[in-house]
Parts: sequence; structure tokens; C-alpha cells
Amino acid sequence: MPDVRPKEEYSVQGISASQGIAYGQIFLYIQTEIEVPVYHVNPEKRMEEIGRFEVALLATRQQIQQIQAQVEKNLGPDEARIFDAHLMVLEDQALIAETFREFELNGHNIETCFNTVSRRYIKAFDEIDDEYLRERGGDLRDVAQRVLHNLLGRTGGGQKLSELVDKRIVVANDISPSDAAGIDRSQAFGIVTDTGSKTSHAVIVARSMKIPAVVGVRDLTKRLRNGDWVIVDGYDGVVIVNPSEQTLFRYGKIRLQKKSFEQRLMEAVRLPAITQDGTTVPLRANIEHAEETALVKEYAADGVGLFRTEFLYLSATKLPNEAELFASYRDTVAALAPAPVVIRTLDLGGDKPMVGAPGLFPQEQNPFLGFRAIRFCLEHLDLFKTQLRAILRASAHGKVLLMYPMISGREELGRANAVLATCKAELMAEGQPFDPDLAVGSMIEIPSAAVTADLLARECDFFSIGTNDLIQYLLAIDRVNDRIAHLYEPTHPAVLRTLKHVVDEAHKAGIKVSVCGEMAGDPVYTALLLGLGVDELSMTPPSLPAVKYLVRALTMAEARALAAQALALDAPKEIYALCDAFCSARLKPQ
Ligand code: PEP
Ligand code: MG
Repeated sequence: MPDVRPKEEYSVQGISASQGIAYGQIFLYIQTEIEVPVYHVNPEKRMEEIGRFEVALLATRQQIQQIQAQVEKNLGPDEARIFDAHLMVLEDQALIAETFREFELNGHNIETCFNTVSRRYIKAFDEIDDEYLRERGGDLRDVAQRVLHNLLGRTGGGQKLSELVDKRIVVANDISPSDAAGIDRSQAFGIVTDTGSKTSHAVIVARSMKIPAVVGVRDLTKRLRNGDWVIVDGYDGVVIVNPSEQTLFRYGKIRLQKKSFEQRLMEAVRLPAITQDGTTVPLRANIEHAEETALVKEYAADGVGLFRTEFLYLSATKLPNEAELFASYRDTVAALAPAPVVIRTLDLGGDKPMVGAPGLFPQEQNPFLGFRAIRFCLEHLDLFKTQLRAILRASAHGKVLLMYPMISGREELGRANAVLATCKAELMAEGQPFDPDLAVGSMIEIPSAAVTADLLARECDFFSIGTNDLIQYLLAIDRVNDRIAHLYEPTHPAVLRTLKHVVDEAHKAGIKVSVCGEMAGDPVYTALLLGLGVDELSMTPPSLPAVKYLVRALTMAEARALAAQALALDAPKEIYALCDAFCSARLKPQ
């Protein structure tokens, strides 16, 4: 007999990955890894085995290119570029050479050897404490599964998302990028995954299709049955299973409110960021790839306040050369000219080692206090000069500003500037054009730099405060440790006093200060930062509408009064409540 008892409502907290609210029946999508048979290959069959591998690689390449073309047609060139990372996996010489070595060594069938080697790589990626790199492990997993399917002559595992023909919410243990590419937006109107993070490719696709998504709900797929009803709340990262009538009514209202609120924010995005009393506040974008210039334009940012350049290295299998770096920087700068682009030199090392060049990065006990960023560059001058030369050359194609990460004091800044001067002299001698007046600034993200801001300000054209690191070092709270995340408090009086000190010293020296850490993109802190005297804010592009709305809704006089009040308080939570109340009073969904 079918179970006709009313089902109980319960909710599961995950990570908000793509905003929006969806309600519907679910389509459970469970991917299982394929089993690879293990057997010995006779020596006379070895060449044939290698041939089989090459054919499988070629077939995989063709399939990925087909998917890429389909995605380009449906979603556009930016989303299609996701699959470049997949094609790069297939060209990874280390992966292929190691598979052959494994084959030589143990004589097992080639799929077993490839499976062993690719799993070893995937494990190495999974263990890295960097979300972006873990996602690259996901790319490798996806491509490896395809190669194995081709070697084993299979067409794919079980169900396919592209076969979804009923309007459903897809609930999956994981969604690979090729699966995501097969999603038909008219059929899937919500996505939930057990695993994943905000930067997984499936999420990027969901966001670009404006499909509400929640990821990281652990083992929700084990608790659900096909056809169950759920609400996906992509704003708060919650999934509500078997929602009651009351819950549905409440969410119906929330959906309407959010929609009109977002429309209101987006309407303001093309308006100038001027406070009610006439101060213009440049609002810039943080980007990691040249392709993100489209987002910078979509959200009408005043150029780029932080271009994190390490990402071009992190995803590469070898060190990029000057021509490759130059092309990427020039494309970014030229696409946004005359708006400025602040290019930050490499912040590699520490928790962001380059997997493609492991020899350069030692294992460290305390990576966040270790061999990273400017420290690493000043000991690898060839690599540093290659990047500086590329940045300088790009400065001939638009408005470039250069800044160094993790500067700890004046002497280090002097050493970096000496290398920059050598690069300028070299380019001059070669007749290569660059901007002779290129502004050079320092990130302020180490307490020693903040304390000696007066000394640094004399030798900088601007400061950019990296609150992500500055807060972790000031409060001694590891910024990626969940266990102590509740103690990571941007409104700690130590943070406020430090920000004020840096701003005051910079202004005394006549230079401007930007904030480019996550604090800058959270509207709760907008008035506080402006009131403390911060001149510019730089953030991920989707944060721009809310921050701009707030800038336009406040006066500098109110912001200064708020900052003065905050500086007089001593409890971080009280200061937060003060800022939150200020923000909520102006930024209300109605
Ligand atoms: C920061 O530390 O605030 C910052 C912007 O740099 P990153 O997040 O890249 O360390
Ligand atoms: Mg930093």
C-alpha cells in the first residue's frame, strides 16, 4: 500500500550558490564511479594498448569540443571557456607521461594505469587548501571519467541530465561541468548538490542560467526519493523538504520581495556612485581572469581595483612566459580602458602553491606565515621580472596601476621597487613602450605594514587594504579554519583602529586608500569604511549593486558619525549591530 501519511517538513543548510527561490518535485541524479577491470597485457600487445589510449584521448577531445560548441551556442563564449580547462587536462604531458611510465612498470591494461595516475592527481588536488584548485581536481575527475568511458567502450553512466524532460529540481551528489552543460534550463529550475562550493563549474553555469542553487548539503541525496517536493532557497543556502502550506506561503512572499528588490538595485547600477552630500566613491571590481572584464562592464564597475594574477599560474602546468602574461594583461587593460586596472603581482606560495611547478614551493608548517607573495618573488627574481615586464608592457595599452601583496615594511618595498626599476631600464633599452608614470602601491595586509603606514606612504602612490589577510593576522584567526570562523570579526576594535591609522597616515602623505578585501563588498560595512576615510572600494562584481545603492543612499556626514560611534565602542558584536542597523535602514527589500 502506498504511504499516504503527510510527510514532515525539515530543512537542510548548505551554501548559497546561485540566488533565487525554486519550488518543485525533485529529480534525483546519482553519479557512480565506473569500475575498471584490471588485467595484464602481453608484451607483444603493448603498442596496440598505447594506440587504444591515444584513440580514447582523441575521442574525448572531440566530445568535449562538441559540448563546448553546444554551450557556446546556448550560453555564450564565457561559459564555453569553462571547457578550456578540460581540454588542457587532455594536453597535460605529466599526466600522459606518468600513465605510460605506470604502464611500463607494471604491464597492466592502460585504463588501470590511467585510473591509478589520474586518481593520484585528483587526490593531490583535493588535499589543497584552496577552493579554486580543488575545483581543478573536479575538472580532472570529469575528464578522467570520460577517458575511461571511451577506453571501456561505454557511452556514459546511467541517467543523463540532458534526458530530463519534466520540470524538476535536480538534486545530485555531484554535477560535473559536462553534466551541467546538458541541463536544459526550461526543465531544471533548481539545483542542489551534496558536494561543491561557490566556485564549482556547475554553479557557475547555474548562475549564468539564473537557476537557483544550493550546494554542500552533505548527504541529502540519501534522504530523498524521486518526486519529493522541495523549496530551494538560493539566497540563504537552505533546502526545505516537504514544505507545509504556511512555508510555501511565506516563501511566495519572500520571492516577490526579493525580485522587486533586486530589480531596484540593478536599476541603480548604471547611476554614479555619489553620496547624498556629493562625494564620489569609486567602486571597482576584483577579478581573477582576463575574461571577467565582461562582468566588470555588466555591473558598471569603475575599472578593476584588484586583479589577482596568481590564477593564471595556478591552473597552468608550466610557468607562463612573458608573452602569455602580457597578452592576458593587455586584453584586460585594453577592454576596460580608459578605466583603471590595478594589477597585483603574484601572491603565490603558502596556501596557494603552483601544482604545475611543485619544486618551487616547500612544504610548510604555517603556510599563511610562510614563503608566499612578495617574499617568494624576491627570491625568484626571474619569475618576478617576467611578470613585472609583462605588466609594464600592458601599461602602454590602457590605465594600469601596479601593487605588491604582503608587503611587511619599507625595506621590502624598496627591494621590489628596485627590481621594477631594472625592468623599466631593460624595456627602455629594448624600445618597448610602457607608461613612465605607472602608479605603484602596496597592499596593507600585514600588521607591520599597517603600523608603519607612514613610512610606506612616503614611497607609494596608493594603498589598498587587504582586510581578508589583515584581519586574520591582527586577530590571529586563520581565515580558512571553520572551527574558529565565528571569531573572525571585521568589527573588532583592533581592526577599526588599524584601518583608521592606515587611512590617516596615507592622507597625511597625500595618497588614496582603497579596501579590496571581502569587507568592501558587504553593504553592512560600507558606511563604516567610508566614515573611517577609505576613498575607494573594490569587490566581486555581483556585490556592486547593493554597495552602490547604499553609497547613493547615505551622506558622508552620517558615515563619519557612524565611524566615530563605532570607534567609541569596545564590543565587536555591538559595532556590528550598529553597522547592520545603519545598512538595513537604507537597504530594505519592500
Ligand atoms: C586580502 O587579503 O584582503 C586580499 C584582497 O587578498 P587575498 O584575498 O587575495 O589574499
Ligand atoms: Mg591577501
